[in-house]
Amino acid sequence: MVLDTTTLRIAFGVMAVMLELLFYFFAYRPTRAPYSGWWCVALAFFLGGALAFLLDGTPHQQWANPLGNVLLVSGAVSVWTSACSLRGAFPRPWVLAAAPAATLAASVADSPATNTWAGGSVFLASMALMFGLATREMRPTSPGYTRVRVPMTASVGLVTVFYAGRLVAFLTDRPGGSIFESVFGSAITTMLTMVLLVVVSFSMSSLSTEQQTRALRMVATRDDLTGLLNRKAFLDRAAGLLKDHAVTQGTGALILADLDHFKEVNDTHGHAAGDLALQAFAGACQDTVRSTDLVGRYGGEEFVLLIPGGSAVRAEHIAEEVSRRLAQVPTSDGLEMPTVSYGVALYDAGTSDVEDLIAAADEALYMAKSLGRNRTVHSDRRR
Ligand code: GH3
Ligand code: MG
Ligand code: MG
Repeated sequence: MVLDTTTLRIAFGVMAVMLELLFYFFAYRPTRAPYSGWWCVALAFFLGGALAFLLDGTPHQQWANPLGNVLLVSGAVSVWTSACSLRGAFPRPWVLAAAPAATLAASVADSPATNTWAGGSVFLASMALMFGLATREMRPTSPGYTRVRVPMTASVGLVTVFYAGRLVAFLTDRPGGSIFESVFGSAITTMLTMVLLVVVSFSMSSLSTEQQTRALRMVATRDDLTGLLNRKAFLDRAAGLLKDHAVTQGTGALILADLDHFKEVNDTHGHAAGDLALQAFAGACQDTVRSTDLVGRYGGEEFVLLIPGGSAVRAEHIAEEVSRRLAQVPTSDGLEMPTVSYGVALYDAGTSDVEDLIAAADEALYMAKSLGRNRTVHSDRRR
């Protein structure tokens, strides 16, 4: 079976137009993520390159083949740029322009009117280099790596190996040689590029969806003033931790904290100063607890901490440390950070109801307020 290159290139062009439109409207437009944008640009370059090569073998090949080479290399450069933007980086413009410029110079200088493969070695080396750089950016150790990126990295890596092999065959076997034509010919290249386009488009669109979902989850679970867990997210996660007895044999402490006379901070220094104090308290909590502990804004100026494995002594120590850090936060305009009252309730393997645990801590907190504030009281109810 002989695959007809022209037919394949037309099929490739139609597929690339469809992908470009679908990707632009359904993946790029809703997110405007830079990597999606650069992938749209790459698709357009590959499409343009395929169209230019339809003129191969006609009198127009003199300009169409060098143009096709430059467009394809620019497409590979855009794939690399897209991969860089996955980690928020952007290559310098002259670095981006270097490979297309070298390809153009080599193609034009190599009798493109008669030589179908004018500038072939520079073109193939540029393609291999750009796809290789893109693979390096996408590798599993790069930041933000998720499973969605596996097929994308694999297909770009495969194309890199293919172009490197094609370059070696070009230099040793020359176009027209049996290995070059049977393994690295234009028909096979077109098919492989089709696979690349489909796989990467799908992966990129999944990545956009994944990032959107993550951003929405962040909005849904975080308190926007302090960045702490919001009440619902805290309750959900705390319920999960209470059920998970594996790490701490099911014991721990819950601390409810309430800023003292907080209304006066607002009344004296304004709402913005109050917000600042809430953020400072949240920061003090986060700096004090371990990453496995939970900190949430329970509402207004009330906060809640779950310390799995924590004892009464540890809870007391955390409360003291948070208050100490809060008192040390630098302030201006005569603002003094408020003191804080804490209520602590301990739990054990028999505890399953977070709300019940919070009620016990709340009773202790109420006692701390009645006893004059700025102190920690432990609940005598064991939940
Ligand atoms: P106590 O020592 O008894 O806890 O007295 P308090 O003044 O801290 O308690 P109270 O419940 O009377 O007042 C809480 C205040 O917290 C009232 C409310 O306006 C303020 N507050 C709640 N949420 C926010 C917020 O997001 N930002 C600011 N600046 N203030 C808030
Ligand atoms: Mg208060
Ligand atoms: Mg309160």
